[in-house]
Amino acid sequence: MSRERLLLGFLLTGILAGGLCGWLIGEPMSAWAWVGTLFLNALKMLIVPLIVSSMIMAVAEMGDVRRLGRAGGLVIGYYLMTTAIAVLIGIVMVNILQPGGGVSLGAEQFPESFADKQKGIQDIVLSLVSPNIVAAAARMDILPLIVFSLAFGGIVTTLGERGRPVIRFFDGVNAAIMKMVHLIMWMAPLGVFALVASRLGEAGGGSGITTEILKIGKYFMTVLIGLGIHGLIVLPLILRFVARRRILPYAGGMIEALTTAWSTASSSATLPITMRCAEELNGVSRRSTMLVTPLGATINMDGTALYEAVAAIFIAQALGYPLDFGAQALIFLTATLAAIGAAGIPEAGLVTMVIVLSAVGLPLEGIGLILTVDWFLDRFRTTVNVWGDAVGAAVIDRLVPGEEGKRK
Ligand code: ASP
Repeated sequence: MSRERLLLGFLLTGILAGGLCGWLIGEPMSAWAWVGTLFLNALKMLIVPLIVSSMIMAVAEMGDVRRLGRAGGLVIGYYLMTTAIAVLIGIVMVNILQPGGGVSLGAEQFPESFADKQKGIQDIVLSLVSPNIVAAAARMDILPLIVFSLAFGGIVTTLGERGRPVIRFFDGVNAAIMKMVHLIMWMAPLGVFALVASRLGEAGGGSGITTEILKIGKYFMTVLIGLGIHGLIVLPLILRFVARRRILPYAGGMIEALTTAWSTASSSATLPITMRCAEELNGVSRRSTMLVTPLGATINMDGTALYEAVAAIFIAQALGYPLDFGAQALIFLTATLAAIGAAGIPEAGLVTMVIVLSAVGLPLEGIGLILTVDWFLDRFRTTVNVWGDAVGAAVIDRLVPGEEGKRK
């Protein structure tokens, strides 16, 4: 049996055993949390050097700035289009299934912790440029790092002879980090076991989770059905007909990334594995992987966008707020923006939902309605987010042909 298969077997066993132990044993499993944190920290440790070196190398390997412009335009276009489709699916599903009808309201409170996190559209634009790139790296603010690295990489390629050692240096950094991902992958089975078991345990095991979900079960199902349509039908169709890839082998190659996404609920923490799966297991060119996936982990969140739309309309239905066509169109726009603005970390979508709710004048207390099950839904939407990035890498690889296979 190949090493890859063995690893995959361990990983799937880890996630299943974690789910089972957390569900059945419950609370005592939270003692495993530190093992999960260790795995998560090991992944996060790689993010900053990986993003900086990948973006610089992506620009350098593009060679021509015009090619970069075309690829960049396509990446953004693909992201916007698929995010918009996801939101639309969410809006249609929530209008058909009407999960908010008959939900009884408690005395929901706007969670205190959200008060200082409210984001406006201008904050999203401002977050692109950081006054202190080191501080941004320390805070793991990925977007300004991407902007800086793209600009830096672009400039370095214009320096001719003097720029060459800089590019070679970052090429080496990138290769070394990818090797470190291999090492960390062997820790993944135990890591995902611990993450899943401890989080389910913390939520009170099977009975605790079921009670919480049942309270707003219809909402929960609406999000899951929407995510299912997008992740299992729309994205595979794009993969087949635009990227011209075979769906099952490609999805099979991404399983390590998808299970990690489900276990960590963080697109950013999953990024090193997404890159490894796309490039090494699915043969997407290094150039496309390096350009598309880091950007995707931060701004391409189909699952989050879909969930934001469903959640906002669900809250309106539960509170008895009528939403006309205009209001739903506004939700369409703001949910797309809120997903772009959400960081690739657990439950970031819940925070940016403030944008959607405020846009249509819904009370922010509505968030209290969906708070308790959010951590669980987060896992499913993060998986769809990462799957969207993976499909994007294949699409761009096909649409922007380059000097493929020119590995350094
Ligand atoms: N956890 C999600 C991600 O990392 C973001 C969110 O929807 O909260 O992709």
